[in-house]
Amino acid sequence: MTNPFDLAGKVAVVTGANTGLGQGMAVALAEAGADLALVGRSAPEETVELVKQTGRKVHVIMADLGSLDPIDKIIGETKEELGGLDILVNNAGIIKRNDSIDFTEEDWDAVMDINLKTLFFLSQAAAKSMIAAGKGGKIINIASMLSYQGGIRVPSYTASKSGVMGLTRILANEWAAHGINVNAIAPGYFATNNTAALQADEQRNTEILGRIPAGRWGKPSDLGGAAVFLSSAASDYVQGITLPVDGGWLAR
Ligand code: NAP
Repeated sequence: MTNPFDLAGKVAVVTGANTGLGQGMAVALAEAGADLALVGRSAPEETVELVKQTGRKVHVIMADLGSLDPIDKIIGETKEELGGLDILVNNAGIIKRNDSIDFTEEDWDAVMDINLKTLFFLSQAAAKSMIAAGKGGKIINIASMLSYQGGIRVPSYTASKSGVMGLTRILANEWAAHGINVNAIAPGYFATNNTAALQADEQRNTEILGRIPAGRWGKPSDLGGAAVFLSSAASDYVQGITLPVDGGWLAR
């Protein structure tokens, strides 16, 4: 019987894969058989090593995703170096914390540009390439608990991640006919650089842990199964969902 989770022969682009959740998902996709293009502004040496250990090909594309300038290069180089583009994981993202009453335009734009604008236009470019190749494809956006909830002191992050859930639905609606599945993963509270401030705040850390039924912060490897599922034939009839991977946070 063929394995519906097998990614052999597929090429995946993962943004922000030098660390954290992007690294966890890149390694899981490689373990499932995909070749990887790692895109980001910091050299992903550790991830390159981990992907190489799986025996898969890996290509690094240095790019600052705060602007749309690198998009053509990302698509072009991936196809040139790895022979195609089947899977895009829009993972790179940032967060800025401040009271909404004091929040600046700069912190608004910085977060919206990378978390939402680049995610949309990179998806558009990848979909154009997938449609031209005629083999369909998979796009996975990284959402958040703040796609479902309001949060506090992170207005541009909540706006961007709520937007990611909506964009995931509209792109699924428009591109399903081309055999492209667009879905999202909503990670709960994961121990990465993004949540360093929360982990370091004793009171917030205790509050957060107290309401996670699983009783622990997520590890980047906890996202691997969901990423492989949404990248593989196993999810061919799954469209426009935002899949929480949250240790039960939303069930409380
Ligand atoms: P992280 O460790 O801070 O990783 C973020 C990644 O995005 C890094 O690779 C970072 O590169 C990259 N990035 C940021 N700005 C960039 C830019 N302008 N150009 C290119 N790359 C850029 O955080 P993480 O927790 O793994 O976050 C990954 C995704 O998951 C984000 O979208 C985040 O919002 C989301 N998320 C995280 C959690 C959580 O609990 N950790 C929960 C829900 C959602 P640098 O290393 O160079 O900064």
